[in-house]
Amino acid sequence: MERASSGAAALGPATRPVQRPPVVKHGRTDQRDNMEALRQPQPTQQVQPSKTGPPRSPFPLDPVEKARRQMGYRNNWNRNPVDQDSQVRWPEPLSLNPAVAIIGGGMSGLMCARELARLGIRSTVFDTGKHGVGGRMATRASGEPSLRSGTGSRGKPAVQLGGLRFDHAAQFFTVTDPLFQGVVDEWLKEGLVRVWDGPVGKLRADMGAFYPLPASPPRYVSTGGMRSLAERVAEQLLLHGEGARPGARGPGLVEVKRPVWIGKMQAEEGRGWTLQGEGQRQGVYDVVVIAHNGKCANRLVGPAGAPRVAEQLMRLRLNAVWALMVAFDGPVPVPFEGAFIQGSPVLSWAGNNTAKMQLRHAPNDLECWTVFSTNAYGQANKVPQEAIPADVADKIAGEMLAAFKQATSGTASSPGTDRWPRPVFTRVQLWGAALPLNTPGLPCILDPDSRVGVCGDWLMGGSLQAAAVSGISLARKIAGLRGKSGPEQLAPFKLGLGTPFTPLRATDIGEFPH
Ligand SMILES: Cc1cc2nc3c(=O)[nH]c(=O)nc-3n(C[C@H](O)[C@H](O)[C@H](O)COP(=O)(O)OP(=O)(O)OC[C@H]3O[C@@H](n4cnc5c(N)ncnc54)[C@H](O)[C@@H]3O)c2cc1C
Repeated sequence: MERASSGAAALGPATRPVQRPPVVKHGRTDQRDNMEALRQPQPTQQVQPSKTGPPRSPFPLDPVEKARRQMGYRNNWNRNPVDQDSQVRWPEPLSLNPAVAIIGGGMSGLMCARELARLGIRSTVFDTGKHGVGGRMATRASGEPSLRSGTGSRGKPAVQLGGLRFDHAAQFFTVTDPLFQGVVDEWLKEGLVRVWDGPVGKLRADMGAFYPLPASPPRYVSTGGMRSLAERVAEQLLLHGEGARPGARGPGLVEVKRPVWIGKMQAEEGRGWTLQGEGQRQGVYDVVVIAHNGKCANRLVGPAGAPRVAEQLMRLRLNAVWALMVAFDGPVPVPFEGAFIQGSPVLSWAGNNTAKMQLRHAPNDLECWTVFSTNAYGQANKVPQEAIPADVADKIAGEMLAAFKQATSGTASSPGTDRWPRPVFTRVQLWGAALPLNTPGLPCILDPDSRVGVCGDWLMGGSLQAAAVSGISLARKIAGLRGKSGPEQLAPFKLGLGTPFTPLRATDIGEFPH
């Protein structure tokens, strides 16, 4: 992909040599626990490794980390220390026509690209998604490669059943921020989203009672599932910009590349940031946006030359959630289409996809539900999420199904657990990096020296709205950075570097936005 490279060649001032070429350091595993020092407001304070084991932090643990350790959860985050001397500083002002690489095609990355295009700035979105863009706006459906079979003993091929469709991460979203409202109003006009007006509320599992939530603020969903919203937004982006005509693929300002996992970025003197992924160069860019919360993010930017950004990425803590996708051979006898479950050690959400997406599966009348675990259950049952053993899948599916029946057994319209329809298909998935447990509480992070920015839901709490607002905000800051140089001009664009994180109140799937 040389489109960005060729653009970068014409970038003029931004492509001149960096003052300090980045220093790449490898393999300093003896200092893994420097994470604790980094989590404190004085990021430069060093913690020396002890000879007998990992270094001890001189600071008390934050409450979330303490709780995680009490639960026996071992942090597998990359804890490589960041090297402050490796900071890249581009000497010349950012080009007026920059090329931006956005690593991550979830809501935040797509909204960042959309806003950049609106401001006349070209970008390339890279995403690992095999089945489509969207990240945690994820849908699986029979008849698509995303859902060939279930897991565990009910793991028959989904295609035999037909008509299955599950949103298996984000379920719906609400809007309170005017920035996001403007976008959603357009989506409503274009028919990309609609209001879900079925009963949604809180289910008190311990009391057997359901309390509906008010209809306002409205809950928005996408008819074909959340991934179809992401895909239609990406499709619109490809049409966006000069030369694009409605209904035609034109030379727009946005390019979307998937499945591509970006594994390395490197500052190249006289050119810009070179990205590498899938065994090849993926172009040269003036600005890099990290639009994902993956554990590889700090590994990508830290050694490359944005250590202050890496420090912030390393502070992030995420919860773990099991998702159960289950199809029943008839309607589940409950008085709701969606419920935040309270008072259950196992479950935090149950939602009826068939009702929400207004799907009717003639002739088999299946009902597709998505059920989420609590964070505590997710942590206690962690396995490698790419290869869930069949016996674990059976155990998780069995326990979550039993907890679902138990949680609803006291609700008014439930005739009793013995009259439940039969589950004919189950599939489980572990979201090992599901939702943030702490946040810096600001829309985005930007290091104007290295021209590396970060957007994502976790910067403001963990919802589609937070992700969208973050992406839009970062795009505007990048636009403002054009033509700027020198400490004085760059100072207002130093965003979120060193901002302390605070723990989030909710550790489970909460009401959105939190
Ligand atoms: C189980 C669950 C239920 C949820 N329910 C709701 C809900 O009902 N309502 C709501 O508002 N929010 C909900 N959320 C939160 C919501 O899904 C997220 O806030 C939002 O989707 C995050 O968007 P994002 O762009 O920040 O990140 P993501 O959606 O995670 O996007 C990041 C993307 O980057 C890609 N990526 C990662 N590393 C690389 C790399 N090196 N190279 C290329 N690509 C890479 C990933 O594959 C991914 O596609 C839920 C989340 C979970 C996990």
